Amino acid sequence: MKKYRVIFIHDTKLRRIRDNLRFLISQAVWDRIESLRALREGILWKDNESQSEHEKQLDYYAEILDLQESLKKSICMCGTCQGIENDMIYIPSLKAWHCVKCDTKNLIWYPAP
Ligand SMILES: [Zn+2]
Repeated sequence: MKKYRVIFIHDTKLRRIRDNLRFLISQAVWDRIESLRALREGILWKDNESQSEHEKQLDYYAEILDLQESLKKSICMCGTCQGIENDMIYIPSLKAWHCVKCDTKNLIWYPAP
């Protein structure tokens, strides 16, 4: 997306549905991250890991970082406060969603142009 966008939901029932969906999606991502961490640690604590195991644990680590970054930039979670219960703003220069509260309080960090 290239445009600055704000999504407001005023209806209480719709807000609850949105928040529950965000929670479920975030939880699924965190569950996957935890399972990848467990797999990675299983390899890291071995005395002599093979080359293929070393590559596998690097792949797990790359997927963990990718999932964390994707979640942080998604509309499911504010990239600043990591809250999931506020209306969100898409900021094209950051290619990420942030909540209205963080934007109002000027808490969002923008890189120098
Ligand atoms: Zn926020």
